Formats: sequence, C-alpha cells, structure tokens
Amino acid sequence: MRVGIIGAGPTGLFLAGGLARRGHAVTVVDRDTGPGADGRWPRRGVMQFHHAHAFRAPCRTALEAELPGAAARWDEAGAEPTFVTLPDGSRRLMTVLSRRETFETALRAAALAEPGVDFRPGHVDAVLVEDGRAAGLAVDGTTVAADLVLDAAGRSGRATAAVRPAPTAGGDCGIAYVDRQYQLRPGAGPGPLTNPMAWQADLDGYQVILFPHERGIFSVVLLRPTATRALLGLRHAAAFEAACRAVPGLDTWTDPERSRPLTDVLPGGRLFNHYRPQTHPDGRLALPGLVLVGDAVGTTTPNFGRGVTLSLLQAQQLLALVDEHGRDVDALGHAFDAWCDARVRPWVEDHAVMDDGLRRRWRGEDVDLDGPLPSDLVMAAAAVDPAIGAAVGPYAAMLAGPEVLDPVRERARAVYASGWRPAFDEGPDAAELAAVVAGALT
Ligand SMILES: Cc1cc2nc3c(=O)[nH]c(=O)nc-3n(C[C@H](O)[C@H](O)[C@H](O)COP(=O)(O)OP(=O)(O)OC[C@H]3O[C@@H](n4cnc5c(N)ncnc54)[C@H](O)[C@@H]3O)c2cc1C
Repeated sequence: MRVGIIGAGPTGLFLAGGLARRGHAVTVVDRDTGPGADGRWPRRGVMQFHHAHAFRAPCRTALEAELPGAAARWDEAGAEPTFVTLPDGSRRLMTVLSRRETFETALRAAALAEPGVDFRPGHVDAVLVEDGRAAGLAVDGTTVAADLVLDAAGRSGRATAAVRPAPTAGGDCGIAYVDRQYQLRPGAGPGPLTNPMAWQADLDGYQVILFPHERGIFSVVLLRPTATRALLGLRHAAAFEAACRAVPGLDTWTDPERSRPLTDVLPGGRLFNHYRPQTHPDGRLALPGLVLVGDAVGTTTPNFGRGVTLSLLQAQQLLALVDEHGRDVDALGHAFDAWCDARVRPWVEDHAVMDDGLRRRWRGEDVDLDGPLPSDLVMAAAAVDPAIGAAVGPYAAMLAGPEVLDPVRERARAVYASGWRPAFDEGPDAAELAAVVAGALT
C-alpha cells in the first residue's frame, strides 16, 4: 500500500519504519525538519519536547520488535535501561532513562533510514477525499496520493479536524507545571529515588517529580493546581531554585555543588486528558481510509509518564492489524477502533479520575469513599494491605490496563474506610511554598 502519515513524532516515525519494513511505500510529512547541523533540535511544534519524559518498558519492547535499529541507536546515545528484581529473583525491565530528545533523535534516524520511507518536510493542510474516502494528503499546495492515511499529528494536530469525531472521554486536568533540566557534576552521585523511574514527593497542595535521564541528566517537575495562582512565580528561575532548596530530597539533587541547570525553567502548556474514537456515534468511520493514532487518539496527564508508551502500543497494534487486514482499510479502521476502545480509553478515564482526586486532595478535601477510588490511591493502599500489591506491579509497568486493579479496589476502599490516609511527604505546604516563591521574587 501507499501510506501517507501526518506527523513524524514518535508515533509517525515508529509506524513509518514498521510499515516500510513490511514492504509498504510510506510518505511521512512533518513541518519540523529535524535536528539542526549542530545537533540542537528546538522542535517548536511539540511543546513538551524538552520537558521531562519517562519511558516505560513497553516502549523499549516495541522498538526491539519493530525497529531494532532504533533501540540500538538509543543505546549508543546513552539510554540507560533499568531493571527491577521480582520476588522470584528474576529481573524485569522497568524503564529506560533518557531524555525525549535522545529517544526521538535515535528513532528518527532509524525510521528515516529504512528503504521505503520518504520524509517530506511540509505542512499537511488537509486530507484529500475522493468518493467519500481518504485518498492522500494536501501538503503546501502539492498532493501525496495514499491508499491509507494515518493521522499521527499529536495532541494539537488540526489536519483532520474537519472529519474526525469529537473526544468522548477526558477533560482539562486542572494541573499546571514547570520543568527544568539539570546534570549531575562529575563525581556527584544521584539523590534519592522513590522507584527506578523517578523520585516523587506528595506535599500538601502540590507535587514534585524528578525524572532521571541518561548521563546524570535529570528533570525536575513542580506540579500545582491551575487554580493556585500564588505559585505562578515558580516559572522564574530564582523562585524555582528557592523551591528546590526548600523541599527535602530535591535539595540534595539540585544542590549547586552537585548539579547544574542545563535549561531555563520551562513552563508547561495546558494539560488535558482526551480520548477520540475513529467512529462517529452512529458507528461510521470518521473517513474511510483514515486512521487516527498516538496522541491524536488519546492523551493522559503526564505525571505518570504514559503517553509515548500508550502511543507505541497503539502503533504496534496498528501494524499487526495492517498485516491482518491488508488493503481492507475499512476493516482495519473498525478493528483498531475496537482495540483503542478497550485498551486506550480506560487509561484516559483512569487519569481523569486520578486528576479529579488529586485536585480534591490539594484543596484539602478527604478521600471520596462514595465515588470511584482513584488508581493512585489504590497503589498507595498497598503499603497497608500487601494483598493489593500483586495487582499494582502490572498496572504500574503498563503490562496490563487499569482493569487489573478492579479486583483489589474494594480492599483498597476498606483501607481508606478504616481511616488510614497516605501521609504528606516532608516539606513546605502550598502556602509555605508560596511564601518561598514570593520571598525569592522580591
Ligand atoms: C508536559 C508533558 C510531559 C510528558 N511526559 C511524558 C512522559 O514522561 N512519558 C511519556 O511516555 N509521555 C509523556 N508525554 C506524552 C508524550 O509527549 C506524547 O505521548 C507523545 O509526544 C506522542 O507522540 P505523537 O507522535 O503521537 O505526537 P507528537 O509527539 O505531538 O508528534 C506529532 C507530530 O506531528 C507534526 N504535525 C502536527 N500537525 C501537522 C501538520 N498539519 N503537518 C505536518 N506535521 C504536523 C508535529 O510537528 C509533530 O512532529 C508528555 C506530554 C506532555 C504534554
């Protein structure tokens, strides 16, 4: 088939490489021309590109299965696979420590090197339609003919806006964040970690997450309710650094004697969860011959680092369905829609419930024992009832969907009904942090 792909982000690149390796003729179009000659990659169309990214095991497994050259290049660039030891003594890949830039540079080089992939720099203005079917792409006044069009244009892509269905799940997260990248100085060891993927502190009214990347590089993310305007000043370096000094654990990582900032403080854009099906409510495909994939289908709050994994799992499934359905792209669209409904939508809904619960707790409200119990609270309850822990591992590693927690949700609810609550981590509450911010900016 001739396949036209809108967007050369992780999803579009992975699919381009995987489809070309199957013998399909792929044209992948992106307005971003890639890293500059000096290796720097501003990537203006993807606001989160230089923000913290965590990569869960299924990302790596998907690359090894479909585009092993990308996994090899990622390793050469310094990616650090990290393992956990299971109770039976075996080791399981948990995460790959890497910046997004390092990951995507490796993936891009491997995918675009595949014979059969044609990279076309440009802006996709619309999908060409013939006889009610997708027939290709309109790119800056030229056309690209295609038997199958894939919309891998990410969370804010507009090229298919005229035909695609409205989201059916999700909403605004109500969470705002700022982010800064650092690197440990030579000889300085890492600070504390909560798990192999991150260090996290849940404080009264806000959250801090630190993601280690490759070669001692790490990102610090400060998350707050969008409504807490008093913490807006965190976007200024002086206030961000003062906050780093004030939070125990974070002060160890960011001690100027031990690490140095690599970037400015990067304010985040609007965060939302969304799930978009391939079909309208009456069951019709958005446009026969067009398939949405990756962030175009679903986005989740980034604090759990699930977006790329969810995108590559989708892309991997789409490749399997292309193998199964061949040129019957209508059957492909419906089969992929059914898979996304079962495997992507639950993650989006899971995050919407967690965000709602987090915002409530940040407002000082108690756990709502009558509503759905958010999955992060189910995980926390494993500290009290170890029987919950067995379900948590596959959920946390994204080896199973949120439904794997269903059998233990009532046990977790019983833990909260007993009066137990997870304690806040040590450090200033939101009002005290606001005073730290104000003090740093006067
Ligand atoms: C703040 C933040 C932090 C995140 N942290 C994590 C994390 O820790 N771990 C994780 O796994 N995920 C994380 N994510 C999610 C992750 O960034 C996304 O899941 C991922 O970018 C999805 O890849 P994609 O290829 O589908 O879309 P994108 O990466 O958005 O790529 C889309 C591409 O399409 C191109 N494009 C769009 N429209 C057009 C057009 N009309 N013509 C030509 N080109 C076009 C864009 O230039 C872009 O290159 C985070 C997201 C945010 C917002």
